[in-house]
Amino acid sequence: MSDTAYFAGLDIGGTTVKSVLVDEMGDLVGDMVEVRSYVKDGYEATFKQLEVALNELTANAGLTRECIRGIGMDVPAPSCDGVIWGKANLADDWVGTDIRELFSDRFGTIPIYMTNDGNAAALGEYAVRRKHHGGLLLVAPGTGLGGGLVLPGGRAYEGGNGLALEVGHISVPHREDDGTLPRCSCGLDGCLEAWVSLVALRRRVAIELAKPENANHPLNDDSPVEEKAFRLRDFAQEGDEFAVGIFQQQGQILGYGLADLVRVFDPGLVVIGGGLAESDFRDQYMEWVMEGFRERAWPMYLNSPIEPEKKTTRFEWASGGDSAAALGVAFSAREMFR
Ligand SMILES: [Zn+2]
Repeated sequence: MSDTAYFAGLDIGGTTVKSVLVDEMGDLVGDMVEVRSYVKDGYEATFKQLEVALNELTANAGLTRECIRGIGMDVPAPSCDGVIWGKANLADDWVGTDIRELFSDRFGTIPIYMTNDGNAAALGEYAVRRKHHGGLLLVAPGTGLGGGLVLPGGRAYEGGNGLALEVGHISVPHREDDGTLPRCSCGLDGCLEAWVSLVALRRRVAIELAKPENANHPLNDDSPVEEKAFRLRDFAQEGDEFAVGIFQQQGQILGYGLADLVRVFDPGLVVIGGGLAESDFRDQYMEWVMEGFRERAWPMYLNSPIEPEKKTTRFEWASGGDSAAALGVAFSAREMFR
């Protein structure tokens, strides 16, 4: 048995739990371990899976569970002080219970840091940038639009109630051709997420394909709109004008939203995550984001007037990969409990 302390990161998702172990230096120990999450079967079912993951992580590293000095975990729902506020895709018993305390007791009163998945992903992007010590704002277009903010030094900003950084639901000044604001999944009209998400992509594809000039586009077949939205990326990668136009609009509107977020938080570094980070046309997409950003952000948010060469806001793609969120919460546990 070793005297060195280790810290585990447990990223609890709707389908799987991704888990990692780091040492006191913050270096990964062994590979990521992934198990099913069973979150819809109640928290007890998930706790069992977390134990499986922790046992495997320590066994793979030749360690015992007693070597773990702290745990970081993230959940796919808003939470505060270990208590989940809204259920998202979880079973009912997750809500209103002190998940952190319950799991800590079960594990031998180990200290646990718990946050939501957006914050965890942002913390992960911070963790993989070892030389970056400033702020970091993450936005991640996916089914919705997630995000998180890491303050200089490495703590996530979670707000007074753990409800901060709902970046998908700020309003953007953009309307459909007919003057309407799109309805968001949250029930409001005109949210950023209603333009920048997979759900938004499906709506945009349906609207654009219904136009007479696009009647002969190969996507105008009998396939369901979910499938069309999925295939749109392949078309965009091949330079298809119709597909490129839809992603260009999405990128620009993400740039509008980022202009407001940067004006509020001045993070210095904006990281864009989600599936587009792996696409062949991501450089072009980033240009579209910058176009929108330049349109709405003042020049000082791009370049400092004191040092003309100095960028005030840098934009990068996410680079933490699959294990970013697990690594992020493991890093936070290490910061707090070492
Ligand atoms: Zn919304």
